[in-house]
Formats: sequence, C-alpha cells, structure tokens
Amino acid sequence: MRQHALVAATLLAFCAAPLGAQARTALLIEHVTLIDGTGRPPMTGASVLVEGDRITRIARGALVAPAGATRVDGTGKFLIPGLIDVHIHLDGASQPANVGVRALHGFLYSGFTTVFDAGNIPDFIYGMRARERSGEIVAPRILATGGVVTAPGGHGSGFGGAQIDAWPAAIPILDAYLALKPDMVKFTFDEHGWGTRPLIPLLDVDVMAKAARYINDHGIRTTSHISHEYRARQAISAGLNTLAHPIIQGPVSESFVKLMASTRTPMASTLTIGEGYSRLVEHPEFLDQPLYQAVYTAEAIAKLKTTTRDEYAKRTWTTWMKVMTPVAQENLRLIHAAGGVIALGSDQSSGPASHRELELMVNGGISALDAIRIGTLNAAVFLGRERDYGSVEEGKVADLVLLSADPSADIRNAARIAMVFKGGVAINRGALDLPVNRK
Ligand SMILES: [Zn+2]
Repeated sequence: MRQHALVAATLLAFCAAPLGAQARTALLIEHVTLIDGTGRPPMTGASVLVEGDRITRIARGALVAPAGATRVDGTGKFLIPGLIDVHIHLDGASQPANVGVRALHGFLYSGFTTVFDAGNIPDFIYGMRARERSGEIVAPRILATGGVVTAPGGHGSGFGGAQIDAWPAAIPILDAYLALKPDMVKFTFDEHGWGTRPLIPLLDVDVMAKAARYINDHGIRTTSHISHEYRARQAISAGLNTLAHPIIQGPVSESFVKLMASTRTPMASTLTIGEGYSRLVEHPEFLDQPLYQAVYTAEAIAKLKTTTRDEYAKRTWTTWMKVMTPVAQENLRLIHAAGGVIALGSDQSSGPASHRELELMVNGGISALDAIRIGTLNAAVFLGRERDYGSVEEGKVADLVLLSADPSADIRNAARIAMVFKGGVAINRGALDLPVNRK
C-alpha cells in the first residue's frame, strides 16, 4: 500500500496534465521486466523511455533520464503493452448516459487501452468515439463499425448499418454507411445467426465480395461474423480481411488450419461469451475476484448470482455452449500453433470479461506469453493498427500496463494491475467512475 501511495505522489503532477497537452514531461520506467507483446521472452532489468506519446528508447539496463522526467521504479514489476479487445459491444445505448462511460472506465481500469466495437447503435457508439477523441471522457481508444453490413433480415440487421442484396444497388447504401466513418466494417455471414439456431437470411456471397472490395478501396478494413468453417472459407475467399469469431460449430479441418496459417487471416477469439453461461451456473464465485469486485456494482453481482444464474441454468443454450467451448478452444490452439493470427475478442462489454478471454486461451493450451501477444500485438494486427499500437517497441504509442506479478508465469497475473498508461499519460485509476472508487 505504501508503495502505491509513493507512486501516486510522484505522479501527481504528471496525472494533472490534460490529455493532449503539448508540454508533457518525459516518463522513464526503470528496473522493470519487459514483456513487449511480440512473443519475445521477457527482458529483465529493462528501462523504457517515453517522450510525448511515443516510446523513444528501450534498453536492458539503465537509461539517463531527461531533465524533468517522471521516473517510475519498476522493481519487481512487469510491463506489458496496453491490452486490446477486437470485439466488444459497448453497453449503454438505451440506458442512462453514464452506463457506457462506466463500462469504458472498467476497460481502462483493467488495462485495456483500445477496443473495437463490432456492432452497436450508430449514434451511441460514434458519439462515444467522438467524446473519447476530443478528450471529453477518459476511455480506451474506441474504434467502431456502428451498424453491420448484412442481408435484409440477416444477423445483426437490427443495428441499422447497411442491408444489401444486389450489386450495384448496394453502392449508395454503402456510401451512406461509410459517411459515418466506421474504423473497420463488420459483415455478418451466418444463416444460423450464431451457433445452431433457426435459419435466417444470408448475405449473397458475390455481393459481399464486391462490397468488401469497395470498402477496402476506401481504405477501410473488414471483418466478418461467422460461426462455422464453410462460411469462414467463403468469407476469406470473398476477400474479407478478418474473422470476428472462432469456429464454434465443430472441429476445424486440417486444411482450414493451413488456410488460416497461409493467409494469416486474423481471427477473434470470442470464447468468453459462450463459456460465460455455464461458468456462472457452476462457478458463480468467480464474481468474488478483485477485478470483478472493483468494476461490477454489488447490485449487478447479486443479480448475476441469483436471477441471471437461474435463467442460465434453465437454458439448453448454456449446455450447448459448454460442450462447444473446448472445441472452439482447440480450434484456436491449432490455428495459433500452425502460425495463424488469433486476436483477443470477448464479444462482451467489461474489462474483467476480456481478461477471462486470456484465461480461456491458456486453459485451451496456448502459452501465457503467446496469450499476451494475442491480447496485444495480434489484436493490433487484426485492426490494421500495428504500426502504432500493440507492442512495447521504440516508435510505438506508449500504451502500457504495469503489473505487480508475472503474467508469463500465470496469466491471471495480467489482472494484477499497478498502473495503466494511454499515449504516455498515466491513467488516474482512483478517479475512474467505478464501484472500487465509490466504497
Ligand atoms: Zn459480436
């Protein structure tokens, strides 16, 4: 506790600097074990220098601090890149204004410095994005698709977005959609919706291919919702840049694993959403973990443990997802082992749920060091933002998380967070609008 107080005191002046202030002091993190997000082994005794919003020097051993630099003693601590979730749906679209902000604070508190919202009410999510970019709210960097591109009546068509079924008739519909400036465009391509549900309209594959090329020609990447291998193959052939989910409907074929490795098509992990049902039914005590207690209100936890748990216990969906989660975990492990690009995506709206994604990958046989890469550099690759984000390397934006225990020894240590930096600025975690700060 005393150490925390000292760190807080030395950073007081630093934290007071508003986001985007030009006279930002340099930051030197010293004597730290660096896990840089590239998958390289940890570097002990590292120094990381940040000037402005960028990492300018990294050295094994000491670096001379520039005059006036803020120094952080990382002795016994571990530095990882800011975590990135490539598939969230931010809560709060039709709720009081602070609901979305609190969810964003929960992500930041949990070490997530970038999130991609993969489908939401356009006005809501673009509004939050504008507030984050102007510095009006403290939040992770928000990238968003707004509504999704699908067939009329297709999966996710309720969000608005673009519903298309013919070419070139789709062009003006896509133009209106692109005018809202999505950072990445999500298509949905799944006649089951998700899992094995009653059949719904499916986007025409040729129209999807033409639309995906049209969007790429506007400089914007694409992702596609899929849940089984056949549609995933078609989406890759149609030129979609990434897949927004793993294959959950059955084991993947050997040739699909090779396709994923040879094309290096990034795939979001989204294990938590399916596993969360049976986890709550069988192990509700997970909600007693410090990170959940910090981010979720007592009322929300009480409701999850009672009404929601009872409801999940009755659903056949809970059992189906419990059976399919190990299958999806193994599919991800095989693709990762073959050289494919898996990226952390939770399909949820909370920092603790995103941490669960890391645990599920490690439980499925991926090493903790690789899981960190999946939650940082691979996620930046998914988003096409790896030039600036995703690793602790010279020249990159200084999105950093300082941990008090080794995440490569136990991935749960990724939740033992001492400090979070976004663009070189320390986040005052004690000032975020979260239950931990209202006690
Ligand atoms: Zn989703």
